[in-house]
Amino acid sequence: MTAATTYLEQVRAELVQRDPHQPEFIEAVDNFLKTITPVLEKHPEYVDANLIGRVVEPERVVQFRVPWVDDAGHVRVNRGFRVQFNGAIGPYKGGLRLHPTVNLSIVKFLGFEQVLKNSLTTLPIGGAKGGADFDPKGKSDAEVMRFTQSFMTELQKYIGPDVDVPAGDIGVGGREIGYMFGQYRRLNGYQAGILTGKGLSYGGSLARPEATGFGLLYYTDAMLQANGEQLAGKRVKISGAGNVATYATQKATELGATVLTVSDSNGFVYDENGIDYQVVKQIKEVERGRIKEYADRVSTAEYHEGSVWDFDVDYDIALPCATQNEISGDQAARLIKNGAKAVAEGANMPSTPEATAAYQAAGLLVGPAKAANAGGVAVSALEMSQNSERLSWSFDEVDGRLKGIMEHIFKASADAADEYDLGHDYIAGANIAGFSKVADAMMAQGII
Ligand code: GLU
Repeated sequence: MTAATTYLEQVRAELVQRDPHQPEFIEAVDNFLKTITPVLEKHPEYVDANLIGRVVEPERVVQFRVPWVDDAGHVRVNRGFRVQFNGAIGPYKGGLRLHPTVNLSIVKFLGFEQVLKNSLTTLPIGGAKGGADFDPKGKSDAEVMRFTQSFMTELQKYIGPDVDVPAGDIGVGGREIGYMFGQYRRLNGYQAGILTGKGLSYGGSLARPEATGFGLLYYTDAMLQANGEQLAGKRVKISGAGNVATYATQKATELGATVLTVSDSNGFVYDENGIDYQVVKQIKEVERGRIKEYADRVSTAEYHEGSVWDFDVDYDIALPCATQNEISGDQAARLIKNGAKAVAEGANMPSTPEATAAYQAAGLLVGPAKAANAGGVAVSALEMSQNSERLSWSFDEVDGRLKGIMEHIFKASADAADEYDLGHDYIAGANIAGFSKVADAMMAQGII
């Protein structure tokens, strides 16, 4: 047992003792701690400065009441959060999630991942996350507006273009960002840079809606090419049918792959001829319906209830784009049996620790979320740049930069894995590459 491993065990024990009821947060930290020993062995000064103990503790956590009135006149109360996890390299940045499962554990896991992800983009943004346990499913537009206005009335005290810049995540898309932006403006006046993912008419960036899904495919293509493979001709399974899955489907298809599936929390559609992203977009984004309806519109598609990861079909690449822990150890074993050789994570932490262990034992190429899905926040940072200079860039300009950033993220992760003799362990590579900039900045800024 080295000094570094003893130290990491102490940090973990303290964390578990403090927050025993935050399983997702502990899981996210574990995924990081498992890979970071060689860095501490090279930098004993990080141990002396208790750098890891500080990195796993958020700088600030805000929890607040969100009261609103539903269409039937009943007064409802939700719980809102903003976790400003680490601001060492720039203003806090990260999405807002509206989903009934949102709690402090979920928001802290997402915030912690965001710190390393944002660092990997090379852009000057710290990490944060927020949201509320509000369920947008089945709510009217008016209810969503009243809820988001109430949410922003409190959140606006803690954000600002150089302070903390929220954006979307699950349950928060263009509609919700618009309402929140309007409420902020009513209270404080127009400031373009207080949120990203805005509409084009009031300060948004071209290619921001596409960014996470497109970026996932740019990363995946870079990972395949570095291993003598390519995306063209591959059979791809995608889970989810939200913003990430929709644009991942579009870009995978454009790059010559066949997307066999998309899913929602009820079931999935399978089409041997390839999923049409425009139909998915119409059903989920415009009509806010269920993915089941896809099979009513496309005659070659079949709808099945249940998880797409329990469905046997031969394929090459898995792109989980739904939510955390969507792939269990057993489902990972099935994925390997079905022939998948690569996994790239569009959702945040979609693979359980058992699933990740199974991929690694089978020698799969694995692109972890904090690297593979960093395209969304990267383009958010480009939206911040455009807002600051009061200019808008063309779609091709933003998309070109996004592609360059994703290729760089893959290369930086692969180089870090190489530097520490870790072979194709891009999970460790992403953690190490993301951590090193945050570590430098924190060491330079003293014990804060
Ligand atoms: N929610 C996205 C993520 O997980 C995007 C965050 C942002 O654009 O700030 O990275």
